[in-house]
Amino acid sequence: MIQVKKLNKSFGRVHVLKDIDLQVNESDVVVLIGASGSGKSTLLRCLNFLEIEDSGEIYIQGQLVDPRKDDLNRVRQQVGMVFQHFNLFPHMNVLENVIEAPVQVKGMAKEEAKKLALSYLEKVGMADRADAYSSQLSGGQKQRVAIARALAMEPRVMLFDEPTSALDPELVGEVLGVMKELAREGMTMVIVTHEMGFAREVGDKVVYLDEGRIVEEGTPEEIFEYPKEERTREFLSKVL
Ligand code: ADP
Ligand code: MG
Repeated sequence: MIQVKKLNKSFGRVHVLKDIDLQVNESDVVVLIGASGSGKSTLLRCLNFLEIEDSGEIYIQGQLVDPRKDDLNRVRQQVGMVFQHFNLFPHMNVLENVIEAPVQVKGMAKEEAKKLALSYLEKVGMADRADAYSSQLSGGQKQRVAIARALAMEPRVMLFDEPTSALDPELVGEVLGVMKELAREGMTMVIVTHEMGFAREVGDKVVYLDEGRIVEEGTPEEIFEYPKEERTREFLSKVL
């Protein structure tokens, strides 16, 4: 679904991603872990071309993407993203938030978009709040709407950047529950999270990043039970 080869990215003189190689197969859940500043968000942003790599190659569904030539809006439709801060449009209700991109970007008829939106709101357990505004929702509810909004574009892959980090602890579970359900249905996902229990339970592959490099990757069991690298062990001893 996604293949990354020798990806490098700098901001000014700061070399943030160093020779990243990554493969995400169809229906895989890949979890990126690592300390703050290690480059996790930048890597996700490169995967849907919110940041453009300096060198290296990114293939989406087998197609090499040339960010300087290709239509990035079309590529981004295949790769949905959910952020730590939900960024719902405050002047639109839940339903309007979810139909916005299908109508504006894909040119879908409004009635069709509403049906589609309601089915995704149903999936995240928010169909009964379709008329509510962002200010009337809890953080967990907002994040579930943000997930429905990304799903409504029917992407092939979903990227999540710390989707529960801004939530009160009692609201984390409802968002992880929705993500778990998506994984069970076979959605391909790349997830940055500090929820190690979730990574262990739902991840097919765990990737540990440190200072812009992939230090180690493997199954949850390999990374959490039998880490090979000293740096991985040290990181895990701090977060587990
Ligand atoms: P993480 O998500 O793992 O915390 P980030 O990818 O956000 O890490 O950041 C990695 C490094 O890149 C940090 O040193 C950060 O300061 C730097 N960085 C990220 N985005 C930018 C930017 N737009 N401009 C300059 N530096 C940035
Ligand atoms: Mg980050």
